[in-house]
Amino acid sequence: MKKTAQNAAGGRRGMVFVISAPSGTGKTTLINAVRSRFPFLEQSVSCTTRRPRTGEKNGRDYFFLTDEEFQSRIDGDYFFEWAEVYGHRYGTPKEGIVRRVAAGNYVICSLDVQGALAVKDLLPDDAVLIFVLPPSIMALKQRLTGRALDDNAAIERRLDEARTEIRRYVHYDYVVVNDELEHAAALLGSILSAEIHCSKRWNAEIIENMIS
Ligand code: ADP
Ligand code: 5GP
Repeated sequence: MKKTAQNAAGGRRGMVFVISAPSGTGKTTLINAVRSRFPFLEQSVSCTTRRPRTGEKNGRDYFFLTDEEFQSRIDGDYFFEWAEVYGHRYGTPKEGIVRRVAAGNYVICSLDVQGALAVKDLLPDDAVLIFVLPPSIMALKQRLTGRALDDNAAIERRLDEARTEIRRYVHYDYVVVNDELEHAAALLGSILSAEIHCSKRWNAEIIENMIS
């Protein structure tokens, strides 16, 4: 059989891309855009106690749980990390990230800052943290208003929280401004490509096998 170094994941270690951004910045939109360009990316689906928004599907966007169901998963050690964000609980199942990366897969997920830092702590060499910024606070307000999911008081609260979250960008490996969607998606794609093709991610055994 011909020996090659080809393979989306086979020659390289698995890894996880964690995307964080204040609510309304566009991380869901960007993740969808980048997943259509990188179909091998697997999305880690979190659990949440918040209600589904219009168009969201259980099992695709989140696993929507009651408080009791969420608590019993905490008690059963089901989550790798969980946090309270905007008054609801969100948790990452252990199998969502850790087991997939260990199996050599590429994972993308959207987590808040504390979740992102927990992933980096656990997988320092295999996690890339990307912070997405809105072009301005005014643009963020317009996106939150345009999305029409929150009332004015909730939007003001989210904007205050956004200012606090944005200051934590320093913990991230990359920052992408989501100004024009196509441009931001292309930038995100470039970051993913560069990280995936980084030489330190290649498995020496595979290379040796190819040249022997
Ligand atoms: P998040 O997941 O960060 O809460 P969404 O992906 O739901 O944000 O996006 C919030 C709103 O902003 C949506 O209505 C989306 O269509 C819009 N949006 C996303 N990216 C852009 C962009 N680059 N320019 C203008 N509107 C955008
Ligand atoms: P939303 O309700 O807008 O979908 O998400 C609210 C926030 O929760 C976002 O910042 C999102 O990244 C974060 N989030 C979603 N799932 C998880 C998770 O499993 N763990 C943590 N820590 N944050 C999450």
